[in-house]
Amino acid sequence: MQIAAQKVVSIEYTLKDTDGKVLDTSDGGEPLHYLHGASNIVVGLEKALEGKNEGDSVEVTVQPDDAYGQRQENAIRKMPIRKIAADRRAVVGQRYQAMTTEGPRIVTVLSVSGDYCTVDANHPLAGMVLNFAVKVVGIRDASEEEIAHGHVHTPGGHNH
Ligand code: ZN
Repeated sequence: MQIAAQKVVSIEYTLKDTDGKVLDTSDGGEPLHYLHGASNIVVGLEKALEGKNEGDSVEVTVQPDDAYGQRQENAIRKMPIRKIAADRRAVVGQRYQAMTTEGPRIVTVLSVSGDYCTVDANHPLAGMVLNFAVKVVGIRDASEEEIAHGHVHTPGGHNH
């Protein structure tokens, strides 16, 4: 079976930046299960995996435009702390969910001043060139429900 749209693919992966620093890995944990063709993973990696078989290893360098996009300077903004933390305590460096004009976003607090904080709504990996090393460890047909939902339902992992 080859990787194509409407297949559930299981991968072991390590993601490094251009300096070789590990940003994320499945090493020591469960493989990642995703629905191919449904934008569950970054587009550059999805393209590189198209047509691969179980057991294949893939190494791919993905540019920001095919990953998490470029950093936007206007994504750094000031907002009332109560908008991100119900207890009005924001900690510098921590991530919070904030409602922005573009919808809910995960933001990182850069600084705090009185009742306001300055946050960065860029994805932490925005603007970065990403090096993925991936091994395909499973491929199966997606169920109709998974295709309709656009994501994988693993046993016990369906929480919506
Ligand atoms: Zn679902």
